[in-house]
Amino acid sequence: MGEPRRLVLKMSGEALASSASDETIDAPVVERIAGEITEALRELPIQLAVMVGGGNIWRGTTGAGAGMERATSDTMGMLGTVINSLALQDALEHRDQPTRVLTAVHMAEVAEPYIRRRAIRHLEKGRVVIFAAGMGNPYFTTDTSAALRAAEIEAELLLKGTHGGVDGVYSADPRKEPSATRFDEISFMDVIAKDLRVMDLTAITFCKDNNLPILVFDLMEPGNLRKALSGERIGTLVQ
Ligand code: UDP
Repeated sequence: MGEPRRLVLKMSGEALASSASDETIDAPVVERIAGEITEALRELPIQLAVMVGGGNIWRGTTGAGAGMERATSDTMGMLGTVINSLALQDALEHRDQPTRVLTAVHMAEVAEPYIRRRAIRHLEKGRVVIFAAGMGNPYFTTDTSAALRAAEIEAELLLKGTHGGVDGVYSADPRKEPSATRFDEISFMDVIAKDLRVMDLTAITFCKDNNLPILVFDLMEPGNLRKALSGERIGTLVQ
């Protein structure tokens, strides 16, 4: 058997807050995602790190739009991602899946600090690594942070799980244009030139510059995460 595949999953905070509930974090959704991750890790030769977003709690631009200092508002967003990360860790550990939260903003009582070599070591030991607090800098998103961490730990693929009902990259927004078609595969250049909203532009250009392919798929469809982790070709591959 060859080396295990090392993967990074980017999961939006909003994916944790389903429309079925008013809660900031909807437990059944977290449970399902944790279940698919645990199953996949037991059955497949993979290593997995997860970057969790915070949009269900706070977005930097929300506060900045209302007159807050951007850096302060972004820090609030980063702290939101820590809350989500702990929820995911809890669900994984309930399934006996060893997990480490590594935070980019130091909070020693809550989680380990992010140290690249330590992240890799945890992965090699079969632990799910959850990256909290993005990359620790304001003005960035967790999409860009996921791309950065994936490059740092030499992951072979970034899995971008969507939550808005769009199961890949389309020629136009399929929610507005029913004639839009989904690409099975598309180049970074086309995504940028056509301004297709896969991830923010900073994240896309980073992936392009560092030859990091992205699989865009619908995280909310049960079973899809399991398929994506097993290398099944669902959604759209951007490379
Ligand atoms: N954020 C930040 N730096 C980072 C990552 C995140 O400042 O490295 C802040 C930013 O304000 C962002 C918020 O955290 O709006 C929540 O992250 P994001 O919007 O990426 O979450 P998602 O949309 O994936 O739920």
